[in-house]
Amino acid sequence: MILPKVVIFFGLPGSGKGTQADVLAKHFGFFHFDTGKEIEKTVHNPAKRKDPVIKREAKFFDTGFLNTPSWVEDIVKKRTEEYAEAGRNLVFSGSPRTLPEAKGLFKVFKKLFGLKNVLIIFLDIDEETSIFRNSHRRVCHDCRIPVIWSKETKDLTHCPYCGGKLVKRILDNPQIIKERIKEYRKKSEPSMKFLKSKGIKMICIDGEKYPEVVSKDIASHFNK
Ligand SMILES: [Zn+2]
Repeated sequence: MILPKVVIFFGLPGSGKGTQADVLAKHFGFFHFDTGKEIEKTVHNPAKRKDPVIKREAKFFDTGFLNTPSWVEDIVKKRTEEYAEAGRNLVFSGSPRTLPEAKGLFKVFKKLFGLKNVLIIFLDIDEETSIFRNSHRRVCHDCRIPVIWSKETKDLTHCPYCGGKLVKRILDNPQIIKERIKEYRKKSEPSMKFLKSKGIKMICIDGEKYPEVVSKDIASHFNK
């Protein structure tokens, strides 16, 4: 397969979408469009704390519910068009999360990239893996880099990159993770099916493996 212009990752929370999107960005020159990060930055922006819309969206975000689709759609569509016009290839790790968002993005993909240049990568993991990985994850308070639980990282108290304090995200409380899994089944999965039904190619990758192995599995599809 020739290198696609757009890659969209789907998979349960903790399946490694963000990590693998970063790898594609680094090795194949994609721009990593991380919707979760964009939303988090927007809702936790102190300058916008009093904005009633931001207040509402921050509450959804912090309690593990999906943000208002039309609000997310606007942000994602606008930014996608800007990147397309700038000639960038994109990798998505957090969009589309809902069917309306998928329908909106589909139009942008079709018009600005061409459907044959779009690829879905589904990272397949069990629900138990999703819950375990998420409840053991921490992020750096300062640079927001996530630190995945492993033998090497479990005793760290500070960020290996910048020295900031490692904290658990409110999002990673087990009850909230279960809620996110439910939302994924109800909304993200139908989005993936919709895009597939419209003729976008999809590959399925075993996400239970180590991140390095998953990256190689993905890359092997580009080098054929
Ligand atoms: Zn840091």
